[in-house]
Amino acid sequence: MLTHNLGYPRIGSHRELKKASELYWSGKSTLKNLLQVGRNIRHDNWMLQKQAGIDLIPSNDFSFYDQVLDMSLTVGAIPERYHDVMVKQNSSELDLYFAMARGYQKHGLDIIAMEMTKWFDTNYHYIVPEFRRDQQFKLFSTKVIDEFYEAKQLGIVTKPVLLGPVSYLLLGKEKEKGFDRIDLLKNLLPVYIEIVKRLDALDVQWIQFDEPFLALDLSEKEKRAFTYAYSEIKREVPHVKTMIATYFEGLRSNASLAVSLPVCALHIDLARDPAQLDTLLGMLPEKMTLSLGVVDGRNIWKNNFTASLALIGKATAKLGAQRVMIAPSCSLLHSPCDLALETNEAVLRPEIKNWMAFARQKLDEVATLRLLTSSETSGAVSDLLDANRKAVEDRKTSPLIHDAAVKQRVKGIKDADAQRKNIFAARKTEQRRSLNLPLFPTTTIGSFPQTAEVRSWRARWKKGELTQAEYDTLIREETEKAVRWQEDTGIDVLVHGEFERNDMVEYFGERLKGFVFSANGWVQSYGSRCVKPPIIFGDVSRPEPMTVTWSAYAQSLTKKHVKGMLTGPVTILQWSFVRDDQPREQTTLQIALAIRDEVCDLEKAGIRIIQIDEPAIREGLPLRLVDRASYLDWAVKAFRLSASGVSDSTQIHTHMCYSEFNDIIQHIADMDADVITIECSRSQMELLDAFSGFRYPNEIGPGVYDIHSPRVPSREEMVNLMNKAKAVIPSDQLWINPDCGLKTRHWDETKKALTEMVEAAKKLRASE
Ligand code: GLN
Ligand code: ZN
Repeated sequence: MLTHNLGYPRIGSHRELKKASELYWSGKSTLKNLLQVGRNIRHDNWMLQKQAGIDLIPSNDFSFYDQVLDMSLTVGAIPERYHDVMVKQNSSELDLYFAMARGYQKHGLDIIAMEMTKWFDTNYHYIVPEFRRDQQFKLFSTKVIDEFYEAKQLGIVTKPVLLGPVSYLLLGKEKEKGFDRIDLLKNLLPVYIEIVKRLDALDVQWIQFDEPFLALDLSEKEKRAFTYAYSEIKREVPHVKTMIATYFEGLRSNASLAVSLPVCALHIDLARDPAQLDTLLGMLPEKMTLSLGVVDGRNIWKNNFTASLALIGKATAKLGAQRVMIAPSCSLLHSPCDLALETNEAVLRPEIKNWMAFARQKLDEVATLRLLTSSETSGAVSDLLDANRKAVEDRKTSPLIHDAAVKQRVKGIKDADAQRKNIFAARKTEQRRSLNLPLFPTTTIGSFPQTAEVRSWRARWKKGELTQAEYDTLIREETEKAVRWQEDTGIDVLVHGEFERNDMVEYFGERLKGFVFSANGWVQSYGSRCVKPPIIFGDVSRPEPMTVTWSAYAQSLTKKHVKGMLTGPVTILQWSFVRDDQPREQTTLQIALAIRDEVCDLEKAGIRIIQIDEPAIREGLPLRLVDRASYLDWAVKAFRLSASGVSDSTQIHTHMCYSEFNDIIQHIADMDADVITIECSRSQMELLDAFSGFRYPNEIGPGVYDIHSPRVPSREEMVNLMNKAKAVIPSDQLWINPDCGLKTRHWDETKKALTEMVEAAKKLRASE
């Protein structure tokens, strides 16, 4: 039985790649230096996988930015606009690559970057391939071959990983009309075949083709594309061992297609869908090997060896050990690197750490599982099983996790708890009367600039260089300044500025029971950007109010309304590592109750307008269409539960960043927030079409200021945008606000832009 791995984190266990890339981009280090850091990371990763006992070690899983962009460069899908960078600037391959990833503003050229979007249902973002009708492909970058050779020089025959041709095309976008990108397969395949042949010439044994789309909803044409692609590869290079890797979903109705493909091995994600094992065992053709993705690559919990061994046992009984492989469920790219680096017991207590495994530990789990299946296990190995059972049992029963009161409260949730007292029309009248806001009220989304100074206070406070009292005073002063400035500028609904928050999820996680944090659990989000998600390990409750002091303080400074500012339950769930011992729905409802209590406490403290941000509602959508309705049901319910404890006169806002709303507009309406603010300025209000076509009943603030750009928009531009909005939404439903929070902006731009925004509102009111 072979062990293998689908991919290893490439940022380096101390984020070496992040640091090296950013130094290179800012001109502070050389290309040579960056390339060396890349080589070191690859080398370290290969060696540690070898030491862990992984038989088939991946190569080409390393990337300087993104594996999809790597594939575009490999097959020469380089958009026309970068040709000048290539030709005139005579750039290195890596500079061209970074130009595609990040845009290029040098030597008189100003070229925009390629689009970036989310990788399936993860928080990783990939660079979207761009295709033209007459798209040609040719082997451009030989990275995959070079890295195979590089490892071979070190004595390791790796299993190169390629994003499979069908998934590669499906991940891209047609940049002109009149063709279907899947029809490019015929042009694309010769490049894949050339790569396989060249690897073959270097004595490659296994090649892994990642085809995550094989586990998603497919059209008949897409299904045929799979058959065509892998038959061609088989025909041209019959003796190379090919593996297709699927992950993030079970194969379901595509199982028969998957086993019909002429490949040597099929990898399935048993963390996501363990039940698919039976289906596949019933239909696997005689020559095919099954790779069992039993170790969850998307989460940080220790594997349950007993459960995994049962799956492995079932497979070997049917197929024989020769035709079974053991692996993580997907690439370990989505796991933090190494739990052994978490040595600060004050940050991550040992009892909880003992339930966890990061990428490096997951390799050990894969290797140990194999040892445990062999007939002559030594005492030391069975000790490992005992220790695992003990950790799993301990987690099941730990009082740190289980809080009877929380479970009881969730059980007791009634329909009425997720229901405001009256319908929106009635609330609107109440709110009109009590809030006394003008037409086109102006507001912002919550955060004001997190200057280097503000961040340095927090860093010094965390290090103990500032006392709590000193830190609080500084934050209070900053808050007061922000409130005064908003008053002077004439904004209608103020915010306190979120200066006390590091991050909109982490801030709440740090104050809720049931969360822990790692010191070094970084996961790549895109390019050099990493996130350190909070870890939800137990039943969630709120020991004490989390935001009331700050909101009440800000409100005490002014007669205008200050909006309370909270992160919603779905977003907190979505941006954390979650429990795998209960459904996500349960965890979300627990968080929703905690947020509900906070909302009620804010109301008690005199806060009349409360915003509950839910930017992640859309990204939580399951990958398969049939699963979406039930997710949306509980996600909307969780939001409503958090919002419905207050009286009709308290106004609930929500905020979402850029999202496609068309297919979920009914559910957005069902959230029943009194006001929703959305990102709109880049799309020139196009996003509002979903709301207007649907006759969205509640109030909306379509963003008029693109906060992702340093550019300051003029009042005329904003009036124009609002006029577009007015064309589809009645004026008395409209608010005026930026696209999102202002924490990444500078104060000077922010002040100018918001002053313009207030002027725009005046103009609009005058013309009513
Ligand atoms: N209230 C948050 C802020 O203003 C919202 C951020 C977000 O939507 N991502 O920063
Ligand atoms: Zn936003």
